[in-house]
Amino acid sequence: MSIVTTHGLQAFYGDAQALFGIDFRLDEGELVAVIGANGAGKSTFLKSLTGLVKVPGDAVRFDGRPIGGMPPGQIVKLGLAMVPEGRRLFPSLSVEENLLMGAFAGRKGPWTLERLYRMFPILEQKKRNPGTALSGGQQQMVAIGRALMGNPRVLLCDELSLGLAPIVIKEIYDAMPTITGEGMSVIIVEQDVMVAQRVSRRIYCFQEGRVSLEGASNALSREQISQAYFGLEAPAAEGAHA
Ligand code: ATP
Repeated sequence: MSIVTTHGLQAFYGDAQALFGIDFRLDEGELVAVIGANGAGKSTFLKSLTGLVKVPGDAVRFDGRPIGGMPPGQIVKLGLAMVPEGRRLFPSLSVEENLLMGAFAGRKGPWTLERLYRMFPILEQKKRNPGTALSGGQQQMVAIGRALMGNPRVLLCDELSLGLAPIVIKEIYDAMPTITGEGMSVIIVEQDVMVAQRVSRRIYCFQEGRVSLEGASNALSREQISQAYFGLEAPAAEGAHA
């Protein structure tokens, strides 16, 4: 059962077209990665899902319902939450206050402060510190936690690994099975292709606003991915749909 689908999704900035007919699906409890070079359209795609870029209603469906172009606040209430690139914590608030902001007007569900502190114990230790006094990785945990506190059905993560050390990236992605284990579905936009392939069930590679490769993460070869990523012709292969 798909929770998010896009069909022929096109997006524009004024006259400039950024997405040229994206067909995409995210199934319940699944983690899907969107990869692609700078300017490929990954952020525009996430913004189209969250209402920040206006697209036709039918182009994006959430749980079967057309949501394209809906006001972002309404989309959040339906259960689509974004972990924004750059974390964007509230600088004057403590870690715990930042997390509680996520619960404000959120939905009821499994995610509570206690549940979150079990997943990221360091956040409980630092709960009274200002969010911005934390390391980059810890700030990323707060940003994820803040989104989870709203108990969304779908979590959208933009470039979680940006600027973080490999060991910290691993620690953060190690939490994903716990998150999807609660039935949540996750889309990650990820620059690090190896990380994306390791943690996701399926991958979409974007190139110049189009899907250049799609397939089960464990069925795609490095060669296929790099060809789709950099824009060379990818050879047909089992499990992959270019
Ligand atoms: P990056 O990893 O660099 O963020 P991306 O894959 O997320 O890249 P987008 O940011 O979605 O790519 O950009 C897709 C296209 O849309 C690019 O050609 C970009 O120049 C253009 N674009 C993005 N934001 C705007 C904007 N606010 N106004 C006009 N054009 C934009």
